[in-house]
Amino acid sequence: MNYKVNIPEALNDVLKSHLIRPDGQEDLCFALYNPITAMGMAGAVLFEAILPEQGDRDVHGNVSFSSKYLDRVGKIAREKKCGICFMHSHPARGWQGMSRDDIDAENMLAPRCKAMTDFPLLGMTIGEDSIWSARFWIKDRPKSYRRHFCSKVCVSGKKLHVSYYDELAPKVHFGVEFTRTISAWGQDKQDQISRLCVGIVGLGSVGSIIAEALVKTGVRKLILLDFDTVERKNLDRLQGIGSQHVGQHKVHAIKKHLEDVTPGLEISIISLPYSLIEGEGLLAILASDVIFSCVDRPWPRYVLNKISYANAIPVIDGGIDANQNKKRDNIGQARWKSHVTAPGRICLSCLGQYSPEDVSLEMSGLLEDPHYIQGLPDEHFAKRGENVFAFSLGLAGMEIQQFLSLNLQPLGIYYGPKEFDFNTGNIDADFDFNCKSGCEYQELIGQGDKVNGNLASQHAIAEEKRKSAIPSAEANRPKENYILQFILKLFGHRSWIAKMFKTNH
Ligand SMILES: [Zn+2]
Ligand SMILES: [Zn+2]
Repeated sequence: MNYKVNIPEALNDVLKSHLIRPDGQEDLCFALYNPITAMGMAGAVLFEAILPEQGDRDVHGNVSFSSKYLDRVGKIAREKKCGICFMHSHPARGWQGMSRDDIDAENMLAPRCKAMTDFPLLGMTIGEDSIWSARFWIKDRPKSYRRHFCSKVCVSGKKLHVSYYDELAPKVHFGVEFTRTISAWGQDKQDQISRLCVGIVGLGSVGSIIAEALVKTGVRKLILLDFDTVERKNLDRLQGIGSQHVGQHKVHAIKKHLEDVTPGLEISIISLPYSLIEGEGLLAILASDVIFSCVDRPWPRYVLNKISYANAIPVIDGGIDANQNKKRDNIGQARWKSHVTAPGRICLSCLGQYSPEDVSLEMSGLLEDPHYIQGLPDEHFAKRGENVFAFSLGLAGMEIQQFLSLNLQPLGIYYGPKEFDFNTGNIDADFDFNCKSGCEYQELIGQGDKVNGNLASQHAIAEEKRKSAIPSAEANRPKENYILQFILKLFGHRSWIAKMFKTNH
């Protein structure tokens, strides 16, 4: 089992400025978390710091806290039905292990936190260079709690910064094949990028190009999600796909292609012929550190927007808007736009990437009815979709740039949405960086499974596609029983997965 923690950037700034003291002393505080349940992964997303008040802790010598402080935190956590995170700082650099005193303190806290909240204690340590280490204390026998270290802690916002535990997320040893890539940004940045787990939702023209670009950039872990099969009319736009793949699931055919073109090294690709909206797809994608949204429908975009804020996972989204001129003898307009959503960045709803009306329309199933579509005005999104490989290549390039900028931030610069106008060759960048005031998605930050649990639904078309697809050797199904077992053990009967798999399976 893999464990991880996600932290919204603004909250991370609050925790850092409290814990990393100018006088070099250790300090401590508590925070609250909600669980994130995913395929093969149990995670936490932090959403609130509960800093000590006067008399709550003593920082001289070995830092310690009063039982009054713990009781106050326990009361709030119980009211909010969430878990407790105990965090402290070390005046040292890099990933921090635990001293005997640290282990004793957390061992003493673990049963108290479990009793107060029914969630496992999450312990975290920050070094003076802002690198985190984290561990869950999970009850394995009566009166016995076992420590499970997290492989990574992801801080997301204007940038993505990941603290890795090398033992559980080992550095990749790149061969001569990557000499040029590593010489562009250095070994440390390559170690950051290559250990990310990247999800791609939608493996059409844009998604298939992005997948190949990620593999060539050294990303070793991909989760591919798309229920669609390859049709002859897709062959002019899918990267790595030929006529021999017609009838197969796109995800499996693309997985095989990526394994063939990977320069050296082992790569782990999970290809799932499911919709994001189905439980299996949702569980898989929540294990990602970054998600590419390569869908052109409002419903999955709406779900991805919620996922991004609720779990503090950056979502890189984009879209192409192209159509013919009136005489139908050339391009009328062609524009493509890319942007990143994360806590502290503008969301897909405020950007106008989908409307609530269109989400309802798709949920109603009417978008699958050709007669209904015929009756729609020409400018309706369901009727548009002129697209060619070259435009997809342009958009995929912009999305990969957003991904690299988010991770590398050369000169400390970050940017928001960008739009390219094919006719004029201009790139527009004058978009809002933040959500409109009162945006409802801001309320979801750090809510984790409380939001995830309401996103899954059945998807008749995806089920139909799976029945009709030509079987492929690359097929692999999520191990549902395995997932269910560990989740029940960890988060108990309140888990949304437990409810979902009881009703749907
Ligand atoms: Zn310590
Ligand atoms: Zn918004």
